[in-house]
Amino acid sequence: MAKQWKAHCLLVPHPSQGHVNPMLQFSKRLQHHKVKATFVIPRSFWKTITNQSTFKSSIAFETISDGYDEGGRKAAESGEAYVERFRKVGSQTLSELLDKPSNNGLPPVNCVIYDTFLPWVLDVAKKFGLIGAAFMTQSCTVNSLFFHLHQGTLELPVKESKILLPHLPELEPSDLPSFLYLQYGMYSFFWDYLVEHFSNIGKADWVLSNSVYELEHQVVDWMRKMWPLRTIGPTLPSMFLDKRIQDDDDYDINIFKSNNDLCLEWLHDKPKSTVLYVSFGSIASLSEEQMQELALGLIDTDTYFLWVVRESEEAKLPKNILEIASEKGLIVRWCPQLRVLSHKAVGCFVTHCGWNSALEALSLGVPMIGVPNWSDQTTNLKDIVDVWKVGIRAPMDQKGILRREMLKNCIKEVMESEKGKEMKNNAMKWKNLIGNSVDEGGSSDQNLAEFVAKISQH
Ligand code: UDP
Repeated sequence: MAKQWKAHCLLVPHPSQGHVNPMLQFSKRLQHHKVKATFVIPRSFWKTITNQSTFKSSIAFETISDGYDEGGRKAAESGEAYVERFRKVGSQTLSELLDKPSNNGLPPVNCVIYDTFLPWVLDVAKKFGLIGAAFMTQSCTVNSLFFHLHQGTLELPVKESKILLPHLPELEPSDLPSFLYLQYGMYSFFWDYLVEHFSNIGKADWVLSNSVYELEHQVVDWMRKMWPLRTIGPTLPSMFLDKRIQDDDDYDINIFKSNNDLCLEWLHDKPKSTVLYVSFGSIASLSEEQMQELALGLIDTDTYFLWVVRESEEAKLPKNILEIASEKGLIVRWCPQLRVLSHKAVGCFVTHCGWNSALEALSLGVPMIGVPNWSDQTTNLKDIVDVWKVGIRAPMDQKGILRREMLKNCIKEVMESEKGKEMKNNAMKWKNLIGNSVDEGGSSDQNLAEFVAKISQH
């Protein structure tokens, strides 16, 4: 049994939907290359998985503790307290896991792959003499900005109206991750936390990035001069890209319940490219005023819409929204996003520009209307609009609200205008390039093969 595997990796993701998805997908790619993957998540996160009973995976799962086994992040008094306790208790319990003798016929763990949001995992891996591979779940552009802060080559507060940094497009202050400009000072703890990723990255044997060389080649080339960086993305299930891993057609883990059949049946009879898909990811919480404007704008367009409104956001909707939306709109609490984006009926994605959502839309050729909420989403939008040219920026008023009239104009621009057609053509171009990158011999495929070959020799 042990002979079947060339190496054995422990993968330690940050416990949230947008971070677990890419690492779990990467585990499947590793196993396809005969590297055993064991996925390690906090017990508190395991309890939030809604599809545990139907969950089938050949990936081995283990749990550690974040210090809040019963409630996870929500049980902590603050974000800062959670990070500190997770670092302390996580280090202890991960060490205990690595100390445990393997008695299941698997080869001993020789490599630990960790989300850069958890830099302490590298220290634990090194204590055990293991290969340590950092895994970046944000774009290389965003990571390079936090690295510049760490190095002091970008200083806060930003005073210039144009920011010129090596191998990045010219940025306006509002293109920076929100913690650095638009919400500067509001999340100072997050700021430290994101910069801290780089405290020990020089000790990592590998730096893997869920990005694609062709999307960000200039900044990737620059980062590769400093670290053994390899782009291995996008980590979408294989059946949406190269189709080489037959049973890989889903992200597998959901912390929200989804009625997949309802969404797909509703899309089924809609004509090609007539549906607007609207989602703000797993974390964003919009103001009630913003939700009302979106609702009234969507109802007032000529377009069908499928809108994901998580249960915690539902109370902000107009009371009679479901009756008014009737046939034209479907509002669900969660949906199978990849199946929706790859459905021929979907013509445009109104998105918060989370990195996974942006990569998914690019990979599936769907133009976007960007309504960023916080964090790296503002920077992802800059790339979507000005670098990849596959979307537009939704204009906000002085209160930071996207008004219904503006939303309607954006929808018209993407779904009906000549500029919209260009964006669709660009999106299809990226779809092909990204597909090639993960297919045999493509940039991400070669990087993965190199990583596997090297860790198999250790
Ligand atoms: N997602 C999903 N169904 C939904 C909404 C989102 O499966 O109804 C998935 C989406 O495909 C993506 C992830 O949740 O993989 C969200 O990650 P992203 O980085 O876009 O945003 P975050 O949730 O981290 O803000």
